[in-house]
Amino acid sequence: DGDNLDRAREALRSTFGFDGFRGRQEDVVERVLDGKSTLAVMPTGAGKSLTYQLPAVMMPGTCIVISPLIALMHDQLRSARANGIRAATLTSADADWRETQDAFRAGELDLLYVAPERASQQGFRDMLGATPLALFAVDEAHCVSEWGHDFRPDYRQLRPLMDAFPDVPRLALTATADRQTRADVMTQLGVPEDGLVLAGFDRPNIRYAITPRDNPVRQIADLMARQPGPGIVYAQTRRKVEELAEKLAAATGRSVRPYHAGLPAETRAANQAAFVESEDMVIVATIAFGMGIDKPDVRFVAHVGVPKSIEGYYQETGRAGRDGDPSLATMFWGAADFATARQRLMELPEGRRSAERARLDALAGLVETPHCRRAVLLRHFGEDPDETCGNCDNCLDPPKVTDTTELARKLLSA
Ligand code: ADP
Ligand code: MG
Repeated sequence: DGDNLDRAREALRSTFGFDGFRGRQEDVVERVLDGKSTLAVMPTGAGKSLTYQLPAVMMPGTCIVISPLIALMHDQLRSARANGIRAATLTSADADWRETQDAFRAGELDLLYVAPERASQQGFRDMLGATPLALFAVDEAHCVSEWGHDFRPDYRQLRPLMDAFPDVPRLALTATADRQTRADVMTQLGVPEDGLVLAGFDRPNIRYAITPRDNPVRQIADLMARQPGPGIVYAQTRRKVEELAEKLAAATGRSVRPYHAGLPAETRAANQAAFVESEDMVIVATIAFGMGIDKPDVRFVAHVGVPKSIEGYYQETGRAGRDGDPSLATMFWGAADFATARQRLMELPEGRRSAERARLDALAGLVETPHCRRAVLLRHFGEDPDETCGNCDNCLDPPKVTDTTELARKLLSA
């Protein structure tokens, strides 16, 4: 009710130092405080963590947070503690299990972060039964669905665990749920049909462009000349990352550094830190780069080659322009990229293949369209956008019919 929301706004200021809620955070927080189970679908950077951290501070009992990556949990732990929230993690990387369990049993924790594999352990269930719980928050909830792009079998154990505590509300959170995945997540985690809060996916300050690749070094150097400021270039392989970083540095005289999993950990950390600090650096990376990085002023994201799926495209381009200032997302693709991607599908187990193929086809549809890119993207996420956005290549410079025929021919022959 209104009292809850007044208290929530007060805690938002006193605990987090924020003046107001962003987007649909308020709707989610209100539902959680009312004890209603919810699926919150909000884009990356929208502020999903706050929607469970704030109720966790306000409600009696502990909020159990399930999160798929230890590194993400530790990031969250640091920022929660920096705000004075009583938080802990129980992961294989922690040495202070005893203290954490004692604190939990004593009711001294607002937040307890755990990995999904804990859920199936009887000892963990027994431990949860000993103390009042405020909430189950399931981060990256698309991992529960085989339709999702990152299925984790351990997430299937969450339902039986939560069912053992029927009075504790559930909050599932994700940035990437197409209609099908979303429905599946709600079924799998037991969120009622009217429990969906879907925030807008549109990023109006991002200008989308998708263009055939001829000379990527020249094309990206042109892009850098048109769009100053920090940028991320995604390439497909480690070798291409290094080659492109070198050539771009030589061609532009700018600071350009590589990032991929094959580099020594210190080099990776140094390049990432330099990028986060920098006002004009370009990082050339595999898709491993970017998850959990909070850099608001990335002015462009360029893809050399095609992402794995339309969800991947949205997530990766979404790292541009979080500050709301004009930014570019440009993809330089070739017909061979789709051929390679289709071949890679054949390596997947049969059960996953058709879902992945549908995602790749959706991406091909986005590449192929002579119409508004933004409209295609937003429709994929279940929205009902305007026919034209005025801020993508096709709206700004409508393609001629002959161009699109040529494009269709290329895609079909791929
Ligand atoms: P998500 O998980 O949705 O990608 P995060 O929870 O990591 O997003 O939050 C992204 C950033 O937004 C963080 O730096 C967070 O502090 C900030 N943020 C969240 N809510 C607000 C708010 N109401 N006002 C201002 N900043 C906010
Ligand atoms: Mg998050």
